[in-house]
Amino acid sequence: MGMTAHDPSLPSRKVGLLGWLGLGARREAVPPASPAIPERRENTRNRQLEEIGAFLAYHQLPLSTQTLQVAHAYLSGCDPDIVRLIDRRIQAREPVTAEWLDDALAGGEEEDDFSALDRLMERLEAGLDEFGRTSSAARKATSDYRSALREQADELSGASATGAMIGQLASLTKAMLRRTQEIEKAMQRSEEQTRSLRHKLEETRRSAEEDHLTGLPNRRAFDARFDAEYRAARAAAEPLCVAFCDIDHFKRINDTHGHDAGDRVLKLVAESLAHISDDRCHVARHGGEEFVILLRDTTLAAAHDKLDALRAQLAERRLVNRATDVPFGQVTFSAGIADVFASGDPRAALKAADAALYRAKQDGRNRIALAEPGERKAVRLVA
Ligand code: GH3
Ligand code: MG
Ligand code: MG
Repeated sequence: MGMTAHDPSLPSRKVGLLGWLGLGARREAVPPASPAIPERRENTRNRQLEEIGAFLAYHQLPLSTQTLQVAHAYLSGCDPDIVRLIDRRIQAREPVTAEWLDDALAGGEEEDDFSALDRLMERLEAGLDEFGRTSSAARKATSDYRSALREQADELSGASATGAMIGQLASLTKAMLRRTQEIEKAMQRSEEQTRSLRHKLEETRRSAEEDHLTGLPNRRAFDARFDAEYRAARAAAEPLCVAFCDIDHFKRINDTHGHDAGDRVLKLVAESLAHISDDRCHVARHGGEEFVILLRDTTLAAAHDKLDALRAQLAERRLVNRATDVPFGQVTFSAGIADVFASGDPRAALKAADAALYRAKQDGRNRIALAEPGERKAVRLVA
């Protein structure tokens, strides 16, 4: 019988080698053997993750929403166009770079499908979690197994009985010891990679939900938050209000002071609105010079007072363009607020708040209007 570490005819590894040979005390509970460990990672999802990581590393692609989606689409074969595109590129021995991907994918379907991104992120996150768990459990098993082997190796070297068989066993045990050490190191490395991949994934997700100019949550993050808060407020029977705020005559600021100065004003208004944000009040940039605010456990009247105080504060300030020292003049915003449950649901409430904002603009701006029951006019003021 050939004696290899993988020989299935070997008796249970729960018995120490000396014990098994009848040369020493029987050993208790040596953990499961290492040869089973690589098999455990034969998990499709983990393999996919590793492949995605290897694909990005091989092509030196930065980790981004786009490269993740492309790597996933290419490796899973779920998008034949991408498979064809990349295969052709590789066959032509041209580099697969982020710039090339940008160009090659432009004009095709606009990959603005956030739910596809969410699904991919969720799959990656679940895969990382599972891999992290499997990998640390396997590493622990390897480490336990290694210390058991070490004891056996020591015992074998110290054994008074000599002979070719003991010598062979001693070197076999030492070889296994080295191998388990290598496996453990490799696992440690892959755990580190998993950690860094998870970190990058979190960063990607964060940046997909943040407005880069103001640092506020963007519309996508707000929509998700609105859904969650709506359900929570309904369950707790708490009032919930939503407000649309829009900077007055913002186009004039851009026209007079330039776009960069306009950006600074936008940031400043975002900062002053963010003052009221806490775990029950969420402020987000809805787009352009428009913000949305969600107020939990707040009645329409209280929401009005809160926003009106902010409005008055901003209107009192005298802002100056620091690049030119030219005053911006009075910067104001108008807002429309709706009671979410009185409106029906989040969509209807947003429409009602929008209609109230329209009224605030018509009535002269720099004011807060409350949505009236059934208010739904969604036409926006132009000019
Ligand atoms: P109203 O009081 O009716 O809201 O007038 P307004 O001028 O604010 O509204 P309008 O919708 O006509 O113009 C909004 C302007 O906001 C037009 C657009 O160029 C500008 N804008 C949108 N997003 C940004 C941005 O990120 N930075 C800058 N600087 N300007 C922006
Ligand atoms: Mg606007
Ligand atoms: Mg405006």
